[in-house]
Amino acid sequence: MDGSVIPPQSGSGCHGGRETMLEAARAAGKSEQLDQLLKDYPRGPHDQPQSMCPAFGSLRVGLRMRRTATILSGSACCVYGLTFTSHFYGAKRTVGYVPFNSETLVRGQLYEDIRNAVYETAKPENYDAVVVINLCVPTASGVPLDRLPKVIDGVRIIGIDVPGFGVPTHAEAKDVLSGAMLRYARLEAEAGPVQRPNNKAELPTVTMIGELFPADPVGVGALLAPMGLAVGPQVPSREWRDLYGALDCAVTAAIHPFYTASVREMQAAGRPIVGSAPVGVDGTEAWLSAIGKAANVSADKIDAAKAKFLPAIRAVIEANPINARITVSGYEGSELLVARLLMEAGAEVPYVGTACPRTDWSAADRDWLESRGVHVQYRASLEQDVAAMREVKPDLALGTTPLVQKAKSQGIPALYFTNMVSARPLFGPAGAGSMAAIVAAQTKGRERFSRMVSFFEGVGTPDTAGYGWKDVPKDPPGFKERYRKVREAKAKAAQAVGN
Ligand code: SF4
Repeated sequence: MDGSVIPPQSGSGCHGGRETMLEAARAAGKSEQLDQLLKDYPRGPHDQPQSMCPAFGSLRVGLRMRRTATILSGSACCVYGLTFTSHFYGAKRTVGYVPFNSETLVRGQLYEDIRNAVYETAKPENYDAVVVINLCVPTASGVPLDRLPKVIDGVRIIGIDVPGFGVPTHAEAKDVLSGAMLRYARLEAEAGPVQRPNNKAELPTVTMIGELFPADPVGVGALLAPMGLAVGPQVPSREWRDLYGALDCAVTAAIHPFYTASVREMQAAGRPIVGSAPVGVDGTEAWLSAIGKAANVSADKIDAAKAKFLPAIRAVIEANPINARITVSGYEGSELLVARLLMEAGAEVPYVGTACPRTDWSAADRDWLESRGVHVQYRASLEQDVAAMREVKPDLALGTTPLVQKAKSQGIPALYFTNMVSARPLFGPAGAGSMAAIVAAQTKGRERFSRMVSFFEGVGTPDTAGYGWKDVPKDPPGFKERYRKVREAKAKAAQAVGN
């Protein structure tokens, strides 16, 4: 194998067109990898990316892991953006980069350069693993990372393709690397003895999948204790040996429901998977039952856990009511859980949009929300989120940066989901009251937002920010009709009460 590749057309990338890039990647021998990506992360109605470069998800997982080196192979502009974003989010770690030009790409030298970089980096005194991430152009050109050695002096080498034209969101890109690492660790564990995980609990453990607010695993540990269970290392993991601990669980909790490849590895290791999460009273009750049952815990212990925590959660929710109409959208994967919590506290939530795909692991949340008249839009586009917000005219819009920007331009109070909502606990008693104060603070400011609108009227128009923004909002299918019916039913109910 000489590593020679077929370069895609010049000017390709985010804006080069997905079909062109896919075609190039297939012609370059990447069909198997692309088919797996398309199966794991089914496309939505919109072209992507509408948010940051998806590869950021994989890069972040690698950079947050101890004794792991992460090397990017891609166009300099992509690597600049990814490196900038990593450091903006406090990576404090070196991002490796193997540059290329059309000549090194066409002659196969890029593959050789990557191989040399991997050999130079893979020092066992420094690293447990070296991750190489192919971005769009090297993937479309067929740079064969699967030909890299699997291990060098005991350092594992993991090469993955994370092209924007194959992985729809950066959330799912976290799963691409997490799944690849779990697979590697599972095969190691199946082949013989492996390192003991850090802080291995004596009790049977629950592995939670998803990047969670740091206090949440502690809170979940308390919920599990009456059932004789403990929280195990999370996925994405912080150290290689934690992967063995994550695999060695009694039950896997797919808290963030889009980790398809990671779930597949857990299933291959024989672990039962439980969806949803301990959110609010209803969510916690159902989750404790499902986890207890999957871990063969006796009914009285499950009841003991519920008796200990459900009244406490109920009391916190009652003490922190939310009286507001809120739309929820984001790309974190926890949007449905947040909406449940808001509704249990009394909020009206007509619309939840998530950039993530529909999977089995969010089915319970989807059913709970839909049975209460909420429109749940998977693979929601920015245009759909905006159209729903315009229709609903909420007291508060939770969403991504461009949605928040749009809301503010219309005088609607809005909060950035990632920084404000994901940065607080969500589960158990600690999560139950976490949203009320922030919702109240924002909705009180509505009048201030209206003043801002008149102050900034016309500034910066007709130009708009990037993010693939097209100022032609598209309604989420069926949303208007569903929302009209919900409003009519509510009006009728209010009238009946009045009579
Ligand atoms: S790697 Fe990311 S930034 Fe670069 S072309 Fe692909 S999607 Fe765009």
